[in-house]
Amino acid sequence: MKLFSDYHTHPQGHRTQRYTQALLQPWVDSARKAGLVEIAFTDHDRYHDGIDFDEIDRLQQKNDDLKIRAGIELDNDPQTSAAGRKWVEKNWDKLDFVLGSVHFLERDDQMFDSVPAGAEQFEGRNIDKLYSDYFRRVREIAASGLVDCLAHLDLIKIHGHRPNAEIGSIADETLEFIRSRNLAIELSTAGWRKPVNELYPGDRIIELATAKAIPFTTASDAHSHVQLGENFSRLADKMSILGVRKVYVYAKHKREPQHLL
Ligand SMILES: [Zn+2]
Ligand SMILES: [Zn+2]
Repeated sequence: MKLFSDYHTHPQGHRTQRYTQALLQPWVDSARKAGLVEIAFTDHDRYHDGIDFDEIDRLQQKNDDLKIRAGIELDNDPQTSAAGRKWVEKNWDKLDFVLGSVHFLERDDQMFDSVPAGAEQFEGRNIDKLYSDYFRRVREIAASGLVDCLAHLDLIKIHGHRPNAEIGSIADETLEFIRSRNLAIELSTAGWRKPVNELYPGDRIIELATAKAIPFTTASDAHSHVQLGENFSRLADKMSILGVRKVYVYAKHKREPQHLL
């Protein structure tokens, strides 16, 4: 089984960088080398000033052997996401794909998923309560009406903290909500390069999502073009063990299944 689409990538990395051919072309070159035929750019909404749809169009024209999708990752940053939401609303028709994510819990000034600093937000805390608070925030972003797919659905495990309750019982309400909103979730290899060293989401959540017929995308969350399609053969093995034979791709928010061979 060969995976071909990477729907979570950050050409700007961790700061605002204007989209130019010089910034974007290396991503296409790396995608081609990795055997990908479809990628979505999904920079963080706090860097929306850098996104230029005309530059993406030009890039697509020069590289017609790949499909290049315009996307964004909208999160729950207490400081920037209000402006991010406005930008997504304004540019909805130009965007192919919007990821929704939760990077903030109670602290306004630190993403809980920063490594290693974010782990301090878990010290001495009731982990089950943190999990339920996290998933409540995921349902909030799913309810925004502004996302097509949820990113790294169980990111809360990033530093290796596990709940006492069974994860299925914690995540089920959220999966049901995602199903009712007709949204997708991503299978992200990024978890394999984090302290938890586990796919996002874990096997049990994938099983429950499959039972509910929730669609999946495939993703690396690359912050450098060399991370595109990272660990995709390992992901393909996992998917075939769990019986996932389809991935979804998007054009202007319309989802299409692709059968994996
Ligand atoms: Zn993220
Ligand atoms: Zn990301």
